[in-house]
Amino acid sequence: MNFIALTIFPEMFIPFWEHGIIKRAIEQNKICAAAINIRDYAQGRHRETDDRPYGGGSGMVMKPEPLTAAIRAAAEQAPSSRTILLTPQGRCFNQKVARELASSEGLILVCGRYEGVDERICHEFIDDEISIGDYVLTGGELAAMVIIDAVTRMIPGTLGGEDSAEKDSFSDGVLKHPQYTRPRVFEGMEVPEVLLSGNHKEIEKWRLKTSLIRTFLKRKDLLKARHMSGPEIEILQKWCRDIEKLISDQSLHSSDALPGDQQKR
Ligand code: SAM
Repeated sequence: MNFIALTIFPEMFIPFWEHGIIKRAIEQNKICAAAINIRDYAQGRHRETDDRPYGGGSGMVMKPEPLTAAIRAAAEQAPSSRTILLTPQGRCFNQKVARELASSEGLILVCGRYEGVDERICHEFIDDEISIGDYVLTGGELAAMVIIDAVTRMIPGTLGGEDSAEKDSFSDGVLKHPQYTRPRVFEGMEVPEVLLSGNHKEIEKWRLKTSLIRTFLKRKDLLKARHMSGPEIEILQKWCRDIEKLISDQSLHSSDALPGDQQKR
């Protein structure tokens, strides 16, 4: 898969290409990654890439000519790529969008700066507009790196274990279960016994249970959007009953119980 970032700061990408899974994916030819300097496509002595906004107001706007020329050059290098504009006004990036983008042959990622790009770019040269969240960055470069990173994880063979991305948080609409490594006891805190048991069936059950519970506690919205299976609903129901019992037992034994509380139960 080809990733080409169009930016006025291509050097920002160098350390990104040179570390971890991205570096390995490039070395193994799983991905091709490049950053094209938009300024190389600007005209004039000063090679300006921005200009004042029509209608007045503060800030500068990225000129359409250098951007268009850079997009065309990238499309020649990587035909059949999707051209994406990074913008806080785009659709929100998430794991589902990452999976969808991973099926493309390539991505041309247009990184804005200043107050953004001339609107006419969006009409003719952009296939998709993506935001990485409801906040405003100074430029699209970090957003492009976020997308390249998340999409690369989806490409088979880029991670150590073939199925690791499938088991990541969000992939199945839930958060990943808690994880532990050595030492077995850390500052008095022990690894859950079941993970040491070697009983793979029990370990899987524990993982599903903790995954559902932590999704319930941390991101209830994910569960609302997900179709839960019967056994999954049963796991959460049992957990709720256990909690209710725990609270009820605690209240019964609590010395802080208000007079008359016992009779109410
Ligand atoms: N004036 C623009 C607006 O209010 O929509 C924001 C421009 S921002 C300062 C400059 C550039 O950063 C944008 O053109 C875009 O490429 C990038 N950017 C900022 N926030 C972003 C976000 N949440 N997601 C993706 N790109 C973002």
